[in-house]
Amino acid sequence: MTDSFSNLSLAEPLARAVAEMGYESMTPIQAQAIPVVLTGKDVMGAAQTGTGKTAAFSLPLLQRLLKHENTSTSPARHPVRALVLLPTRELADQVAQQIKLYAKYTQMRCAVVFGGMDMKPQTLELKRGVEILVATPGRLLDHIEAKNAVLNQVEYVVLDEADRMLDIGFLPDLQRILSFLPKQRTTLLFSATFSPEIKRLAGSYLQDPITIEVARPNETASTVEQRFYTAQDDDKRRVVKAVLKERGIKQAFIFVNSKLGCGRLARSLEREGLVTAALHGDKTQDERLKALEAFKKGEVDLLVCTDVAARGLDIKDVPAVFNFDVPFNAEDYVHRIGRTGRAGASGLAVTLVSPSDMRLVADIEKLIKTKLQVENYPLDEDRSRVNVSEGRREERRDDRREERRPERGFERRREEEAPR
Ligand code: AMP
Repeated sequence: MTDSFSNLSLAEPLARAVAEMGYESMTPIQAQAIPVVLTGKDVMGAAQTGTGKTAAFSLPLLQRLLKHENTSTSPARHPVRALVLLPTRELADQVAQQIKLYAKYTQMRCAVVFGGMDMKPQTLELKRGVEILVATPGRLLDHIEAKNAVLNQVEYVVLDEADRMLDIGFLPDLQRILSFLPKQRTTLLFSATFSPEIKRLAGSYLQDPITIEVARPNETASTVEQRFYTAQDDDKRRVVKAVLKERGIKQAFIFVNSKLGCGRLARSLEREGLVTAALHGDKTQDERLKALEAFKKGEVDLLVCTDVAARGLDIKDVPAVFNFDVPFNAEDYVHRIGRTGRAGASGLAVTLVSPSDMRLVADIEKLIKTKLQVENYPLDEDRSRVNVSEGRREERRDDRREERRPERGFERRREEEAPR
């Protein structure tokens, strides 16, 4: 088979690690990107999360760095050679865990630093020396300023989920970090979408990049069944429960637009007998990791989350994703529903649309270039209670205004990283 890992002539320790992971063949992004990264060229890759892009950049990068492999205990013999930047703590953690698995039979050291955690253990690890450093931008700058991280021997830099890094407002931090790196290096940029801002970033920092696109930008996986149901805010929980029951679905992600709404919805669903966990930026790192672990183990039915907290999480086999709120940013729709239907499995994405959301649905249509049908979801129960008095309606509207304050811009940026 042409897409077998054995065609790559990976070094034995890497090939052994890949075999141990049980990968039978390369995914399309791996088949395209690995040979290019092995040549040392810059890459601009468009790939959705869940496509295997971590291995696509880390395997060839490790292979190229093997020439520096050594068993010395001297930190000077283990300078940072590869820097991988990601927008969120969870993603940084996840990518570092994967790289550690690929590197486990080599002498290469990999460390991860992100905000919201004590700097001391990170500092100790950095001072011992690491070849591959995975980081979120704000915390990395803290370590650079504290002289814990020296980047003048970096040969590879990976800007992963680059569109989201710009979304969060990391551009100035990225520019600063890139200014510390040697000019002579390989830069790999991965982004789910190629927006004009991403193209500008690539234009400034990449040299004659090879463009790799496995799924067209903004394309949603064909394995995901997308449904749009009209629902008044008061009916949304009932629709979620009815769909879960009708389809026999045991676990799902439920996306909301605000931190406040996230906690509130998780509590309501919990009261209604579902086991839920909330994942949003105000949760501590420990709480976030625990919630994720519980979901992975199947101890939690519904993970209610905001975009910031859920971006790119690698959880296999999430059968369904609900957009309890239609995302403000159409690109978030693509990312959200990318949580289901991964690696060829079929998935269901249900978006609950209230009458005021039609403009946002039109934005999604435009982005994914697909005509969307917004259907009625028949609920058995009497819907007359929705006709509340004007007074109550006003009260709810105020509530909603507060809930709809999005997790964006500087607010988001602050919650990604520990205060600097
Ligand atoms: P990523 O897109 O890098 O987050 O990867 C998503 C998931 O796919 C991870 O759980 C990887 O372990 C898995 N994966 C990566 N490459 C392969 C492969 N060639 N075959 C099967 N699974 C893979």
